[in-house]
Amino acid sequence: MTDTLPDLARGVLPRAALYIGGRWREASGAGSETVLDPSTGRPLGTVPDAGPADVAAALAAARAAADAGTWADATPRARSEALYRLHEVLTGMADRLLDVVVAETGCPLRLAQGQQVGLPLRHLEYWAEAARRPELTARAPVVTARLGGPATLGGWAVRREPYGVVAAITPYNFPLLENVMKLGPALAAGNAVVLKPSPFTPYSALLLAEAAERAELPAGVFNVLTGGADTGAALTGDRRVDLISFTGSDTVGAQILAAAAPRVTKVLLELGGKSALVVCADADLELAARIGAANVTTHAGQGCVLATRHLVHSSVLPGYLAQLRGMLDGVLVGAPRDPATGMGPLIRAAAVDRVAGHVERAVRDGADVLTGGARPAEGSVPAGGFYYRPTVLTGVRNTWPVAQQEIFGPVAVVIGFDTEAEAVELANDSAYGLAGHLVSRDAGRAFELACRLRTGTVDINGGPGYTNPDVPFGGRARSGLGRENGAEGLDEYTQLKTIKYHAG
Ligand code: NAD
Repeated sequence: MTDTLPDLARGVLPRAALYIGGRWREASGAGSETVLDPSTGRPLGTVPDAGPADVAAALAAARAAADAGTWADATPRARSEALYRLHEVLTGMADRLLDVVVAETGCPLRLAQGQQVGLPLRHLEYWAEAARRPELTARAPVVTARLGGPATLGGWAVRREPYGVVAAITPYNFPLLENVMKLGPALAAGNAVVLKPSPFTPYSALLLAEAAERAELPAGVFNVLTGGADTGAALTGDRRVDLISFTGSDTVGAQILAAAAPRVTKVLLELGGKSALVVCADADLELAARIGAANVTTHAGQGCVLATRHLVHSSVLPGYLAQLRGMLDGVLVGAPRDPATGMGPLIRAAAVDRVAGHVERAVRDGADVLTGGARPAEGSVPAGGFYYRPTVLTGVRNTWPVAQQEIFGPVAVVIGFDTEAEAVELANDSAYGLAGHLVSRDAGRAFELACRLRTGTVDINGGPGYTNPDVPFGGRARSGLGRENGAEGLDEYTQLKTIKYHAG
């Protein structure tokens, strides 16, 4: 693990170029993005903006790879072996990946080791194995009487085929994981991919391209374009794209859905959330507060599934608030590479301003600040970094903007309830439907409550604590369309063809 920026500049960062058709290329235009280290605000490097000609070149390369059939028509075993090679190469790059992801995201080291590097490697291994799934299933043959003729023996074969070219567009918070969660199933199913990562976190995607080159994935099967909204919009508006797989905000997700509509292109959307943590009257309060605190501080609140509305039974509300406050006040906000750091920075200064704006408005509306509600004191965090203190607001109504809009920062509101029916009503009173969290000593009742929450995922008492690549993940309503992970996630990247045959 390197400690300083000069070390990173000396060979840890990947080449800042576009990866198209198995080759590194300079971008055709002069535009570029300066990538910052969020913990200090200092530049890490400059990455090109892919322009229309680069987008066209990447789509042509992906189209050729998809249409030539060498990848789509490769045996499942051959695709699996290629993905295992990619996994092996990436595993060998784990230390470098950790350096780069921590530098570009500002995610604290301990969290980054597991969630930003270990987990994506585990997901990729899963997809290498899943690629072996047979493409063909048979329906039972039947004998039917032909109208006015002899009986016929025949049947159906159902074939899962890739879509062709997948445009994958990803956000900044868990960049390697988000990239692998698209690349893995798309390639396992036999598609070619053009990946456009967030302009804030392009380096982990470029490392993925470096690994693809070293693993000798066929040319054009995996391409990386760096750039921002314009590059993304050029991709989603192109007729050579067969499937758009997007993870990001609901606002951009809706724009992508509109861009895909004229050609009726399939769209997968993993969007934002405003998830509820329901603390029942019988909850283990220490556990509930630990879960509540983790949902505020994990990656400075920059996680789509994090609970930002804590709904707490009135009988345990004072105890919950006391424990939550104590835990949050004990979290060290600081430099990601310091092992004592419990919470790092937000991604950019604008994100800190957005968070501060939400808090100020809520206070003007009448909210009370239980803890936080401000930037850390000068000198307590590295100068120039984008920090905000873990914040809890009380005295909030569920209808207020602070309880309805995704803040994507370390801010939670706490709202009391008296009956479980009220808790369910409050939890479901949201435009989003990504996740729900329940704390109760009665697992059976918690399961019944989980069934009544209108979200794609619910965890009880913290759940198993990690994202299992075998388990479907996704949202309802404004949180998205489709599912990632598991057999269901692989299905999203395939389309069915039914072949009817006549025997004899
Ligand atoms: P964002 O929507 O601003 O950007 C996401 C990606 O879309 C970036 O690569 C960006 O350059 C690109 N983009 C922006 N405008 C575009 C356009 N018009 N056409 C095509 N591409 C465009 O999101 P963000 O700020 O990077 O990430 C935070 C958001 O992501 C939060 O809302 C969070 O909840 C969500 N998220 C969701 C999940 C999930 O699985 N549901 C996971 C992680 C993050």
